[in-house]
Amino acid sequence: MDDYRDTHADRKDGEALVNPVVAGVARAIHEHRLPPGTRLAETELSDIFGVSRTIVRSGLQELAHGHLVTLKANRGAWVAKPGPDEAREVFEARELVEPRTAREAARKATAAQIDRLRQHLLEESSSLTSREYGQALRLSGAFHIEIARISGQRTLLEFIETLVGRSALIIALFWRNERARCDNHCHSTLLEAIARHDGKEAEEFMRSHLVDIHSALRFDETDENGKDLRSMLLPPD
Ligand SMILES: [Zn+2]
Repeated sequence: MDDYRDTHADRKDGEALVNPVVAGVARAIHEHRLPPGTRLAETELSDIFGVSRTIVRSGLQELAHGHLVTLKANRGAWVAKPGPDEAREVFEARELVEPRTAREAARKATAAQIDRLRQHLLEESSSLTSREYGQALRLSGAFHIEIARISGQRTLLEFIETLVGRSALIIALFWRNERARCDNHCHSTLLEAIARHDGKEAEEFMRSHLVDIHSALRFDETDENGKDLRSMLLPPD
């Protein structure tokens, strides 16, 4: 039951400690396997991840801190279900900060970082070709995070990581249109501007890319999918 603590003891210096509940739930949200509003029962999570209830609770707290989970006193935890106002705010925040990090990334990117972005884009497009849409979605969010990392602005990076996670829920709820997801073509245009170290273009492409996604969201209700927690959390083989 105490895998998490054992991992903690074994980890190498400087290696970030990741709670498996946080990693598993966040990944399932990013891959659209775990829809907004899903009940997250402590005992079931403890069973699925093979960790104690204490670890499950601290994981849920951490996820709530990142706005991916909603905790209700004495009632339990649910995957967060952002409303239209929250969705607009998240995208407005991204439209404010990400053009800035794209500009900085274009100025600072090293040849090795540009190669990694290219590699990332190839993985994204091969997931699309093999119809692994969940994985493609997660990789497209990670592409935005990678650009923020290259910009070297750590405070903005943390903020963008949270916003990208929340966007996965927003897109799951309000996506009614092909345009409301990161498309590979937009990402490759962005990457080429970064590779040319053209900060101004990178900034403009990022802004118009985010405005496109935002304007393609439709703010009405969706249905529940009726699947059980285990099948949503554990990726298919
Ligand atoms: Zn994108």
